[in-house]
Amino acid sequence: MYLDKYKLDGRTAFITGGGRGIGLAAAEALIEAGANVVISDHDASILEAGRAELAAKGRQVDAVILDVTKPDAVGRAAEEANRRHGGVDILVANAGIAWPDTPGEAMPDDVWRKVVDVDLNGVYWSCREFGRPMLERGRGSIITIGSMSGLISNKPQRQAHYNAAKAGVHHLTRSLAGEWAERGVRVNTVAPTYVDTVMSRGGFDQPMFKTWMEMTPMKRVATADEIASAILFLACDASSAMTGSLMLVDCGYTIW
Ligand code: NDP
Repeated sequence: MYLDKYKLDGRTAFITGGGRGIGLAAAEALIEAGANVVISDHDASILEAGRAELAAKGRQVDAVILDVTKPDAVGRAAEEANRRHGGVDILVANAGIAWPDTPGEAMPDDVWRKVVDVDLNGVYWSCREFGRPMLERGRGSIITIGSMSGLISNKPQRQAHYNAAKAGVHHLTRSLAGEWAERGVRVNTVAPTYVDTVMSRGGFDQPMFKTWMEMTPMKRVATADEIASAILFLACDASSAMTGSLMLVDCGYTIW
């Protein structure tokens, strides 16, 4: 009875930024649970590499090029995925960027705009365009990817743009969850700590990372598959009473 709730047979999931990292791990987890999965990414070579990595493991996916900062393109992708797959049941709004780290007093306009555009606006366009057909069908589960950085400033890293965007994602999630709860669509956030992916690996040799590691109760970063497990839980019926939740997967860091 309990394990059946993790089964996603007959459901379709769409993942943004799914060509690698957390998005690709989420694809694998959702496929393993029985879902039909569409991965998307703005970079064709990343997308193809991700699709090939899954194919090498015997996992088949549909793959679509999509830049989440383009609301019209997100709308067309949602329409196409719903038409081709008879409805999208799960959205993982995962695409994100973090760099470059920049002091708050010297953040160039374009750096601020770019990070907020991908990390917050892109999540909203994705939720809006994939959420609308879910509301029409009266069912769906949306998982946004926030961050521990939406809860703490992670001061030495100087990421006011990223922190603000991720805090925005957390509250966007709660806002949409409240509006859509009675209409059958759940919206939840997974907020990871540092995860061993291309995005964060570049920072692992920085002095601030050593301090961070010392302050982390579990003394390690998370892996993409540990984040994917949380995404799977929020996608499936095991979490059917959860909406507007923030699931922190942070190796204990924010206990401090
Ligand atoms: P990765 O960089 O490995 O994967 C993110 C993917 O999203 C990349 O392929 C990236 O391409 C793509 N992407 C970037 N911009 C866009 C866009 N405009 N439209 C579509 N796709 C885009 O990162 P992670 O897997 O680590 O990150 C996934 C999510 O998890 C992000 O939202 C991130 O903020 C969040 N997160 C990650 C943490 C970490 O430590 N790794 C910690 C907390 C949260 P490209 O390489 O070209 O940018």
